[in-house]
Amino acid sequence: MLVTYKKIKFIKYLYSHFPSRLRFGASTYYSFRRMIQRSQYLSENELKAYQLRQLKKNVQHAWANIPGYRKHWEENNFSPDKLKSLDDLKSIPFMTKEILRDKLEKFSYKKLKGLHKITTGGSTGIPFGFYQQRKNGLIELAFMHELWSQFYPKINLKTKATILRGKRMEGPIGYDPLNGLILSSFDLIPQNISQYIQAIEKYKTPILRAYPSSLYVFSTLIENLGLSIKHNFDSIMLGSEILYDFQNNQIQRIFKAPIVNWYGHGEKAVLAGYCRHNTKLHAFPQYGITEIAGQDGKEVQAGETGEIVGTSFWNYATPFIRYKTKDFARKGTENCSECNRHYQLIDEIQGREHEFIVDKNKKLIVLTGVSIVCGTFTEINQFRFYQDAVGTFIFRYVKTPEIKKVNTAFIQKSLFEKIGGNFDIIFQEVNEIERTASGKMMYLEQKLDIKKLLN
Ligand SMILES: [Zn+2]
Repeated sequence: MLVTYKKIKFIKYLYSHFPSRLRFGASTYYSFRRMIQRSQYLSENELKAYQLRQLKKNVQHAWANIPGYRKHWEENNFSPDKLKSLDDLKSIPFMTKEILRDKLEKFSYKKLKGLHKITTGGSTGIPFGFYQQRKNGLIELAFMHELWSQFYPKINLKTKATILRGKRMEGPIGYDPLNGLILSSFDLIPQNISQYIQAIEKYKTPILRAYPSSLYVFSTLIENLGLSIKHNFDSIMLGSEILYDFQNNQIQRIFKAPIVNWYGHGEKAVLAGYCRHNTKLHAFPQYGITEIAGQDGKEVQAGETGEIVGTSFWNYATPFIRYKTKDFARKGTENCSECNRHYQLIDEIQGREHEFIVDKNKKLIVLTGVSIVCGTFTEINQFRFYQDAVGTFIFRYVKTPEIKKVNTAFIQKSLFEKIGGNFDIIFQEVNEIERTASGKMMYLEQKLDIKKLLN
């Protein structure tokens, strides 16, 4: 076992010294990066024409080769000949996670090279799998690197990062010759922090990648222990979760580097991130089509909130066509006046579906607004909301070491100012708040069926 591990490590080490253009999938990666670079400043009409071409390709493929899609569309009175302009996208019926989960094989085309199955769904509570090709990982990386290159222009397949994530390793710290320094987010405890800092100072990678919640905990611990980091990262890449203001402020205090945050998901239908000028999320039009739909299924106006609906361009194995993501967002303008890209902007992700709490009147309250006030709770290190009954929730917290008794009356008062007083709050002091299986920390464990309450 050990021999195999060492062997893999040695191969990785050799591989890390190859020129990046000789890497597996490098041609896919570089051709996508060039495509994005060449198309990013196209006019609105040019981008729409491009999107229509890609959409037609996907729809025709699904119609011809994927019986599930064909049946779903026939039953809902859609056929590919109806697709004459991009607006005709609206005549395609929505696709849901539940339909794909229950009939995955009927919605997949498996005669493609390098096929493998991906599983996702930790954030939505719907365990769910789908197929994609190996090259989809390289395509994803090309888009991600184009996004990050605005903050670190030299980025390529050989760029090393410090990665704070929920990877269970032999110990809390590992070094991967291909990717860089790996710090386990499962082991963020005061005893490990100075060791983490030493490793960062040793490897001095240009970028830092983390989940916002993990980096928030890390920077809080650094501050509480009176430590600091000398190494300046060129940029901090924070994804997979919403980045809250209180986290952003805390992280900036410790790491004085520009932060880039993005919205994406395993299904790869929508990818949107910051530009150099502002913190709005710019949805890549070359990646897929982003729609934001109201409860009536119609596109909302800028400034309004709806569900993100995505159509992926690059997955021909399990295509996602008008796929309802269960993520909610406030729609922005159709282009960015600061960077001049004609990309659909998303002003704010409004909390994934599980980030609602329910009061005694069965009113759903988005937790995003609440989390900002949680930044003022200086007597606690970590917290999590837990709800399994309407109108009541448990507020679990880990207190900071120097505090004897936490002023829960203050917390309750602050929370009520944000969420209204129609709740019973049970305070529960704990020694540790466990990570979820993926190593992310969710601020809310919601056991109620929110979907039922939405209708
Ligand atoms: Zn911009």
